[in-house]
Amino acid sequence: MSRLRPSPIAPTVDFDKDGVQHGFLRLPYSRDDSAWGSVMIPICVIRNGKGPTALLTGGNHGDEYEGPLALYDLARTLDPKAVSGTVIIVPAMNYPAFRAGTRTSPIDKGNLNRSFPGRPDGTVTEKIADYFQRELLPRTDIALDFHSGGRTLDFVPFCAAHIRPDKVLEAKGFDAVEAFSAPWSMKMLEIDAVGMFDTAAEEMGKLFITTEVGGGGTSRAETVRIARRGVLNVLRHTGIVAGAVEKVRTQWLDMPSGDCFSFAEDDGMIETMVDLGEKVEEGQVLARIHSVGRTGVAPHEIRARMSGLLAARHFPGLVKAGDCAAVVAVLVG
Ligand SMILES: [Zn+2]
Repeated sequence: MSRLRPSPIAPTVDFDKDGVQHGFLRLPYSRDDSAWGSVMIPICVIRNGKGPTALLTGGNHGDEYEGPLALYDLARTLDPKAVSGTVIIVPAMNYPAFRAGTRTSPIDKGNLNRSFPGRPDGTVTEKIADYFQRELLPRTDIALDFHSGGRTLDFVPFCAAHIRPDKVLEAKGFDAVEAFSAPWSMKMLEIDAVGMFDTAAEEMGKLFITTEVGGGGTSRAETVRIARRGVLNVLRHTGIVAGAVEKVRTQWLDMPSGDCFSFAEDDGMIETMVDLGEKVEEGQVLARIHSVGRTGVAPHEIRARMSGLLAARHFPGLVKAGDCAAVVAVLVG
């Protein structure tokens, strides 16, 4: 790592200073409409003396809103006197994507959550990843990265941690998930872990939890309430904010294998046969994909490959071959 050049990102905040600072991660971005311009990624640092550091992030994907809503709110309202340690809040990590309302960056099409460890001399998205990798994660004790389904997926609201080789860190992750107190809690399997922020944090030995709290490219009152309560609960759980965790009963879910995921094999119009949170049996039809180019064609059926609960579904009415159509998770306990 030491061979790499320094990050071009200049923070306008001092991570070691007590109090509240609202500033930016300023990333130089020279372009047609701004020759010596920059991308200004909002950041808030709330510090009060010694103690653990929490890194709270949203907008890793630009079309997911519960995290940003909870985190802009927290940055505005968290009193430093109530903090022991440091809270670093970046509510819109991939800020160009967030401003465009898209999953990936309009500048370079970069998917930030597939760009880690990033590069200091790479694309704008790779430069953001590199800054988190080399500057923010090393000073972090616990990272909470908010996700939702974005425009194309919708989820039952859950907080999640990964199955990890280090069972002590795994247990700490599940404890933090339990403290978040979403209606569902997930032992999560990734289908594509390479390049993820999650993977970068975990390979550094950090405690890392994430969420999927809704989706569809919008937010709902319920899912925003879950996100707001969850982030405060995690801060209480780590002792950074005093007070008891506001526990809500959670149902644990597990994603034991790739059989959880069902993908569309045809283009067409998708008909959801099961709603989010409904129990399903192995072999049950989860969705039907209707050909629309002609009449008289039988729909293609997507069947559950395991019994459990519908945890995620394709959101838009039209689907393309290769799209994730449904995710089934197994009820634990
Ligand atoms: Zn996401």
